[in-house]
Formats: sequence, structure tokens, C-alpha cells
Amino acid sequence: MSFTLPDLPYAIDALEPHISKRTLEFHHGKHHAGYVSNLNGLVEGTKHESASLLDIVRDLSDDPGGSALYNNAAQTWNHTFFWDGMRPDGGGEPGGAMLDRLKKDFGSYDSFRDKFKQAATGQFGSGWAWLIESDGVLDVVSTGNAVVPVADGRTPLLTCDVWEHAYYLDYQNARADFVDSFLDHLVNWDFVESNLDAA
Ligand code: MN
Repeated sequence: MSFTLPDLPYAIDALEPHISKRTLEFHHGKHHAGYVSNLNGLVEGTKHESASLLDIVRDLSDDPGGSALYNNAAQTWNHTFFWDGMRPDGGGEPGGAMLDRLKKDFGSYDSFRDKFKQAATGQFGSGWAWLIESDGVLDVVSTGNAVVPVADGRTPLLTCDVWEHAYYLDYQNARADFVDSFLDHLVNWDFVESNLDAA
């Protein structure tokens, strides 16, 4: 069985003006599609052929990023998770139980926001910023290149792609402005909460 590129969970222009249709045409249609295509070439005939993406990632996590198979499986999974973590008219402070949980583990929504922005802007070079659950506590981490934070019982809840291809067409070098848009206008808190419930 081969892996397929999932459709975006919204129209390709639905995240404008924060992420343009042109960015998504390249990011989903070329970059994400490329990882899926590479993955299918790499996995065919191997013991991972019928494994799930996260099983491949977990199986190779002794050396995260150390193989083309890890990197393409991880990037295939990461991008779908990134798309699902956004929606039109999202972002800002969540309500209800999600806000209570952020207050419990970060002190306030603003301190979560500061920590996430710092992780996203402070990641040197290509990578990802993550909200995760670890041992029952929410935390923010960043990872380089394709690495998924699933080792040691950690559960990803939300991610922001900070590879230049995620923002360069819309924001050029201003990664911080892209991260502000992600946090203030795009985060799908219902998706975060569903991952927390499953954690
Ligand atoms: Mn990307």
C-alpha cells in the first residue's frame, strides 16, 4: 500500500491573507507532495511498507533524522498535522477547558504564546515548533529539520512549520511575523483539544 497526499482540510485560499493561496499551492502541492512521493519510493519492498507514518518514525527514532526514510515519513506526517492544526478565523486565546489547561501548565495564555513564539523564532534553520503533552503536562519544544517529538512518551498537540518554504513567499525573512499570524489568526484549538483528549 502506498501513502497518498491528503487534501487540505479547507479551500486553498481559505487562510488568506495570513497564508496565501500561492504559498499553499507550493507548500502542499509541491513540498508535501514531494515528501509523499519520496517516501513511497523509499518504503517499497522494506519491512516498513505497511507501517503507519508514526510507526515508521517511532521505529527509526534511535537516530531521528538519520535516514531518508525517517525524514520523508516524518515530513509527510508533520505537514498533515500542521494543516489540521489551522483553520480560517482561528488563533488567539482559546476558551473553556483548553484555556484552563494552558493557564494550569504555563501560568497564562500570554506566557504560552511567548514560549511558543520563542521556540518558533529561536529554532536555528529549518524545523518545527510544537505544543506537546509529556507526563500529563503541556510543554513547548522545537525540533530541527523533520524530527517529530514522539520519543519518551511525548504527544504532539500542535505544530508550526518554520522551514523558510512555509513563509518566504508571504513574509520573506520575517519569520516572527508569520508566527504571529499563526498564533493570532490560524490555530485550530478544537484540533489541539482533540489531541489532548486522545493523549
Ligand atoms: Mn513545510
